[in-house]
Amino acid sequence: MLGRFSEHVTQVLADIEAQGLMKREREITTPQGGRIRFKANGQEREAINLCANNYLGLADHPDIVATAKAALDGYGYGMASVRFICGTQDLHRALEQRIAAYLGKDDAILFAACFDANGALFETLLTDADAVISDSLNHASIIDGVRLSKAKRYRFANSDMNELETQLKQAQADGVRFKLIVTDGVFSMDGYVAKLPEICALAERYGALVAVDDCHATGHLGEKGRGTPALTGVGDRVDIVTGTLGKTLGGAMGGCIAAVQPVIDLLRQRARPYLFSNSLAPSLAAGAIKAIDIAEAGDDLRERLMGHTRRFRQGLEAAGFTLLPGETPIIPVMLGDAVLAQKMAAALDERGVFVAGFFYPVVPQGKARIRTQMSAALTGEDVTFAIDAFADAGKALGVI
Ligand SMILES: *Cc1c(COP(=O)(O)O)cnc(C)c1O
Repeated sequence: MLGRFSEHVTQVLADIEAQGLMKREREITTPQGGRIRFKANGQEREAINLCANNYLGLADHPDIVATAKAALDGYGYGMASVRFICGTQDLHRALEQRIAAYLGKDDAILFAACFDANGALFETLLTDADAVISDSLNHASIIDGVRLSKAKRYRFANSDMNELETQLKQAQADGVRFKLIVTDGVFSMDGYVAKLPEICALAERYGALVAVDDCHATGHLGEKGRGTPALTGVGDRVDIVTGTLGKTLGGAMGGCIAAVQPVIDLLRQRARPYLFSNSLAPSLAAGAIKAIDIAEAGDDLRERLMGHTRRFRQGLEAAGFTLLPGETPIIPVMLGDAVLAQKMAAALDERGVFVAGFFYPVVPQGKARIRTQMSAALTGEDVTFAIDAFADAGKALGVI
């Protein structure tokens, strides 16, 4: 390679390292679950896992694994085609209809990931005559998706309804044709729930559409796990929902958009990540249908998840940690400094608790944290063990 370029890249990496921002991947040797084994210094260790998006514990659910295996036998390994050429099996349509029924929409369309769903949404549906009004804390894939579209862009500070209204007025004054408000249902780094009733009321007043990315909610929040629109009582007022099959709903891969029929029909014609990217593997489609069945019927799993959430929050607060407030299973332990967050993660790792430090650019500078996530895969003893490990590590590092 061009020597000068190679030197440049090496220097960028050295800067990342010097700022304490280098991310290192630890290798897990077991299925995803409440307890995992991973490689550390040439050895294997067991730990309680507090950083998976495995909210209902479905990532290694035996019925989902069995369903996926049966689909491997019955439908093969892969499709080797995009959907519209020869990549649509009855399984794919069954999954799309299952998602739509679960979320109370006319239809749904699958993508390889929700990153792609968000990459498709804005560019396909809006033109330079339209406006996207986006929450400042929205997921990176929404930000990139909005960048890909020619629509005019307006931003409001996280969940600031006054600013949202100001931006809606501005868009109106700018004479746009359609306005689309887009928000995460749950903001993944903070665990905050979007103010959907207020957003929908403003949308009605200003004649805007509402899109919610419910990746951190579908399957475990709201009645039957139907997500934040159900949780906040605005189910049918949200026009478009984007979601993932890579978190609560089995944790494998896949994304989706659910909406009224013509919106889904147009996405099938025009969405570039749909037209130019491979069809979801059949085993994943079959497994996801089973995962939705289990999630929909999983009141017991949701109860366990929320029980763990309350107890873990109380335990950490009693120990003296600074948390962000909230009720979702995302519980951020605020540390401020990126290096401290990494040290805390390492100290917990040594104590048998698997967590990840989050720091810039994933969260703002000076807002480094350990984002913990509860899971129905954890036992009550696991939660107690994790609280004790946090208290011990926190004292050792002078955090509490
Ligand atoms: C995880 C996540 C995504 C990306 O989902 P993938 O299916 O993993 O690509 C998009 N949006 C939000 C809010 C997420 O949390």
